[in-house]
Amino acid sequence: MSRNYFMAGNWKMYMTIDEAKELASSLKNILKDVDSSEVETAVCPPFIDIPAVTEILKGSEIKVGAQNMYPKQDGAFTGEISPLMIRNAGCKYVIIGHSERRQYFGETDASVNEKVKCALEYDLCPIMCVGETLEQREKGVTNDVVKEQATGGLKDIPKEKMKNITIAYEPVWAIGTGKVATPAQAQEVHAFIRGLLAELYDENTAAAVRIQYGGSVKPDNVKELMSMEDIDGALVGGASLKADSFEAIVKFGK
Ligand code: PEP
Repeated sequence: MSRNYFMAGNWKMYMTIDEAKELASSLKNILKDVDSSEVETAVCPPFIDIPAVTEILKGSEIKVGAQNMYPKQDGAFTGEISPLMIRNAGCKYVIIGHSERRQYFGETDASVNEKVKCALEYDLCPIMCVGETLEQREKGVTNDVVKEQATGGLKDIPKEKMKNITIAYEPVWAIGTGKVATPAQAQEVHAFIRGLLAELYDENTAAAVRIQYGGSVKPDNVKELMSMEDIDGALVGGASLKADSFEAIVKFGK
């Protein structure tokens, strides 16, 4: 294994504080032998669980991320959470532009771009999500959609900051549906994204950005996906909610 893979669990709107503590404790225990220079791991709990989870994961290699943020340090923005708060709570990562946020909360490439820029200012590492719907795939416009989302989301991000960014390719039709993209389908889009990064920046920058696949990743399909040249990890929803299935994913199905 020569790459530094990155496996992140998106807990979405699951896990009360007690459940989150139990899951974090189990993960701390069962993932303690994972070498983070080979496979980096992170969990992204709901905001309210973050302090308890970061406390439990202290002294472990598992990082913590948030699932969203508001792009201001503070202010009269009722119900929102700032990057400074996320950072102070012990997070390293923040997921930005997840398809559920685009679909249900009106996020656009412009708002994603604003959030990515703001997250970087506060030393958070964005996991920026892109991906096409089934309709778009069937129309044959997957690459156009992904190009627009990636170019829009990365607008004005300088080359030096790209090492802090992870891109998650998540075909919307594969999220939470049990329909996983075939390794070849995923690789094709990952290679396209890598090529786009080389055009927007340069080859070295493109090679250094980790591109995760997300969409029904499970213990029994992870190994094949991770064997593809441009797949550098996974963003995992459903299968990250149980310690044993996330462990199996982090260990490539073993
Ligand atoms: C996700 O929420 O980012 C995701 C990929 O979900 P699932 O693994 O459940 O498809």
